This record gives sequence, structure tokens and C-alpha cells, in this order.
Amino acid sequence: MAGEAQPDCLFCKIVSGDVPATIVRETDSTVAFRDINPQAPTHVLVIPKVHYPDAATLAAAEPQVLADVLRETGEVAGAEEIDGTGYRVVFNTGAGAGQTVFHAHAHVLGGRGMQWPPG
Ligand code: 5GP
Ligand code: ZN
Repeated sequence: MAGEAQPDCLFCKIVSGDVPATIVRETDSTVAFRDINPQAPTHVLVIPKVHYPDAATLAAAEPQVLADVLRETGEVAGAEEIDGTGYRVVFNTGAGAGQTVFHAHAHVLGGRGMQWPPG
């Protein structure tokens, strides 16, 4: 069935609790946890509990859950107090763009200045 947990997926294992993570927020449809290799003073990943390989695939299959993920990026930014200065939400999509975990996730990055265009 579309969206079901994949046994070899790291983020499905974080959802199930089989792999530990520093969880900062959780809802019925999402989990937010600190990135293990932070690229900014605040670097939190927001993931859907359902498994889809990237954000666009999630959007096509379960648009409400993608909306939940985006709403949670804002909740994380507020809780981390980076909403005042600004923050970046990134969905790396495809290996060529730096995606390494093929379970949809939003990076929430803040607490330092940001360059544009990104590297
Ligand atoms: P991607 O490169 O796919 O856009 O993002 C995957 C992110 O997951 C990376 O920023 C990486 O540091 C993070 N990551 C990889 N393995 C783990 C882990 O076991 N725990 C946590 N909390 N983050 C991880
Ligand atoms: Zn997964």
C-alpha cells in the first residue's frame, strides 16, 4: 500500500522508535527531530510518518500530509525562535541535489545568515 513503512528506511525507523532521535515535536502525521549533522545553529528535520521517497511524491499522493509537514516547519521555527530573523525550508530532491535519505523530509535551518543562491 502506498505510504507504508519500508523496512530498510532510516526515517521509518525513527518514526517507529527503532532508531533513536532527538524529537522536538510530534503530531498525528509528522515527527520533527534534530539533524545528526547540523548545518546551522538550528537544523531540524520534519518528516511525514508515512513513507514517500520525496516531497513531490508525497504531495501527489497525500497533499494534506505535505501541508501538515509545512505547517510543522513553521511551528518548529517558532519554538526555536528563528522565525523573527528568518529561516530556510529545504527539500533536497534527488541524489544530484544532495538527497541522501529517500523518505520525504523538510530541513528547517536557521540561527545564522543564509546565502542565495544556495550551494
Ligand atoms: P538529505 O541529505 O536526504 O536532504 O537529508 C538527510 C539528513 O538526514 C542529513 O542532513 C543527515 O545529516 C540526516 N541524518 C542522516 N542520518 C541521520 C540519523 O541517524 N539521525 C538524524 N537525526 N539525522 C540523520
Ligand atoms: Zn521511510
